[in-house]
Amino acid sequence: MSTHPELPKAYDACAVEERWQAHWRDEDYYFSRDSDRPRFIIDTPPPYPTGNFHIGNALNWCYIDFFARFKRMQGYNVMFPQGWDCHGLPTEVKVEEQQGITKNDLPREEFRRLCRELTAKNIDLMRRTMRRMAFSIDWSNEYITMLPAYYRKTQASFLRMLREGYIYRSEHPVNFCTRCETAIAFAEVQYEGRETKLNYFDFDGIEIATTRPELLTACVAVAVHPGDERYSSIAGRTLRVPLFGHEVPVIQDEAVDPAFGSGAVMICTFGDKQDVVWWKTHNLDLRPAIDSTGHMTALASGYEGMTASECREAILAAMAASGILKRQEPLEQRVGTCWRCKTPIEILSERQWFVRVDPEAILAAARQLRWVPEHMLLRMEDWVGKMEWDWCISRQRIFATPIPVWFCRDCGEMILPSVADLPIDPTIDLPQTPCPVCGSTRFEGETDVLDTWMDSSISVMNVTGWDGVTPRPPLFPAQIRPQGHDIIRTWAFYTILRSLALTGEKPWEQILVNGMVLGEDGFKMSKSRGNIIAPEEILEKYGADALRQWAAAGAATGSDIQFNWNDVIAASRFQTKLWNIARFSLLQLRKGEPGEATEPTLLADRWLLSRLSDCVAEVTEAMEGYQFDRGLKAIREFAWEVLADEYIELVKGRLYGEGEGRASAVRTLEITLDVLCRLLAPYIPSFAEEVFSHLGRGSVHAQSWPDFSFHDGQALEDGELVTRIVAELRRFKHEQGMALNAPLGEVTVMAPRPIEDGGDAGRALNAFVHWQVGTGGLSRAVVDVKFEPAIVGKTFRKDAAAFMEAIRALPKEMLEAPITTVTVNGVEVPVPEGAFVPVYATLVGGEQVDVITVGDVLVTVRRSS
Ligand SMILES: [Zn+2]
Ligand SMILES: [Zn+2]
Repeated sequence: MSTHPELPKAYDACAVEERWQAHWRDEDYYFSRDSDRPRFIIDTPPPYPTGNFHIGNALNWCYIDFFARFKRMQGYNVMFPQGWDCHGLPTEVKVEEQQGITKNDLPREEFRRLCRELTAKNIDLMRRTMRRMAFSIDWSNEYITMLPAYYRKTQASFLRMLREGYIYRSEHPVNFCTRCETAIAFAEVQYEGRETKLNYFDFDGIEIATTRPELLTACVAVAVHPGDERYSSIAGRTLRVPLFGHEVPVIQDEAVDPAFGSGAVMICTFGDKQDVVWWKTHNLDLRPAIDSTGHMTALASGYEGMTASECREAILAAMAASGILKRQEPLEQRVGTCWRCKTPIEILSERQWFVRVDPEAILAAARQLRWVPEHMLLRMEDWVGKMEWDWCISRQRIFATPIPVWFCRDCGEMILPSVADLPIDPTIDLPQTPCPVCGSTRFEGETDVLDTWMDSSISVMNVTGWDGVTPRPPLFPAQIRPQGHDIIRTWAFYTILRSLALTGEKPWEQILVNGMVLGEDGFKMSKSRGNIIAPEEILEKYGADALRQWAAAGAATGSDIQFNWNDVIAASRFQTKLWNIARFSLLQLRKGEPGEATEPTLLADRWLLSRLSDCVAEVTEAMEGYQFDRGLKAIREFAWEVLADEYIELVKGRLYGEGEGRASAVRTLEITLDVLCRLLAPYIPSFAEEVFSHLGRGSVHAQSWPDFSFHDGQALEDGELVTRIVAELRRFKHEQGMALNAPLGEVTVMAPRPIEDGGDAGRALNAFVHWQVGTGGLSRAVVDVKFEPAIVGKTFRKDAAAFMEAIRALPKEMLEAPITTVTVNGVEVPVPEGAFVPVYATLVGGEQVDVITVGDVLVTVRRSS
């Protein structure tokens, strides 16, 4: 026998995984630029480098790795790139915290350097977890948005969209975080419930209720409903704003709710989105009361320099002092806050850069995609339906892609760099030529930077090979975008928008949306709840394959998954079971390997291969539909129930013997193990590799997806019957208190057609099993009687025993027909109705047997005495 590597009894997942992870080479997963195999390019999410690859990421990446491996095995040229979406507020805030500074305390470049260093460190931490999870990432296609190679393309895309009119610069109200001192997009505003006070006060003779008294100086009109008779006399007049004294018109507008407060509202620039709408439609003045740092402007004379909340208290106090504050009521309010720091958002009118949004075009492109699951398209449609403003893409921050624009200091002309000179930082670099309008060489670089989504929304352009110059990337569009449902309104939306603007086409063919991972308590994982589970914790205890199984089995694709340690433990147990199956099979293979020509011939073998063939079809269909839970369930049922519990138990006896029967079973196990490893390869790559390596056929990850097909309808039906009979008779033995390996006696199966099981059932049951067609030889006879003591006792009293003896003494065949009289103590007496019933038994060859029905097949057992 050859020198086989050892097959340890227990499976040590972590040791096996680390061994294979050290052995695999990155090159095996590289996308090939010059292959003619069909392409499958994945627009992988570039995570934000927080340093923590969280369990929600793990779920997302498991899905990606499942189908990336599956597609590779199907012969696709797969690109599973990995990006890092580096820029943005969280890192700036982290650096500010770590250094105890604010962004303005350091030169811009120095602050950026600190951000870059922190980001690089964090990327490294996250890469480690990704490798430990055995993701088949194509590291040759890694991109990092903070590096010149990438943000050069972000700048190029900006310039192209600017030249083609998709991007414009304008003064417009925007959402603004005064703590972060930057504009933010609508998609970044989070709404929270807060308790506030509704303040009723006298506004030049009419009552007005407001939650924002600090905006009194920003009041530009009072609005009432046109049908509100309380105010019809003052419509069109002007009122004097209390405390500040400027005059504002009273306007009428359908959007005013007469039932809210007093029915009259003050319009300020700007208290909320509705103020912006009114300001535009009624062409009102602009009175900015709050500046970009959250302090009151000079317009708030007497309050200038106060923070908004200081000003609120001061104004309320002033109102109270002058006797105009009538009353205050508590009010539940939904407040828009900054996604990063939770500061309530102000709406400020600012000169900002915008991308035009064309909702119809985006919807049309979104509808061309295959959405998995389908209903996620609704979320996109909902969001696009609510679009009112264009996308504000400028930010007043530092760690971001600079907006590549200069302005001439003398004539104001906007000057753009040529694409060949990118990337540039206009606050450092200078234009190559003088101002084309006035010839000046004095320039001012734009200090605003780009929204991070401007980087990540061209990820698909980047992975499909865009160089920033050609109109369309050579490999565009990608085949699939996997992402969470929480970023449909941002990443998915912006990517579609940008792809349409830059290429005129949809970015991908399909979009696969995954759910969120909830804590064990069913709530969103958060530090404050203390319900966060880190992937590393699971990896350490149970290994990557168990975590991957958890991800696959936890829920249908797109649904949220509640984390549960029991599911991980169950996954780990399944691996133990699989290892036992594999080890048993491999040991059989080693004992005597079947010749190449051996084909499975016996019924049980052909039955198993038919079931295996069905399993392959089921798993393939599930993988094509991204139904990872369904695929894994099919594998599990086949391996655990069909292969281990039924087949191996049935053929063990044959395997322990010799000859043709053994060879057929060994060959069956060999085929099954080979196919099973391939089916498992996408889900649990290390386990599949470990088992497959013992077959001596190279790496399972270099194999094709199994196209195994074996159809034998008769074997499927007859094999099912054999396994059911064996299961039923084992249960019978158990119920009779017999040991499972005890001799059972003679078993006759009265099958509907001839069945040749090759002796498997007999060996499995330790019985003589006769297969016969039909119920011939079977008879039924009365073997006893069962008396009804109430009737017998009441009728015969002291003669009851004699009566029963007399009945028992009758020939048994007489008892099949009703008996009217019987002789008791020499006297013929009538037999009362219901005094007894005959007891029948089944006989074979005149001997009494037990009968077990399996479906509609009768099985008799004549137990060995
Ligand atoms: Zn903020
Ligand atoms: Zn000029």
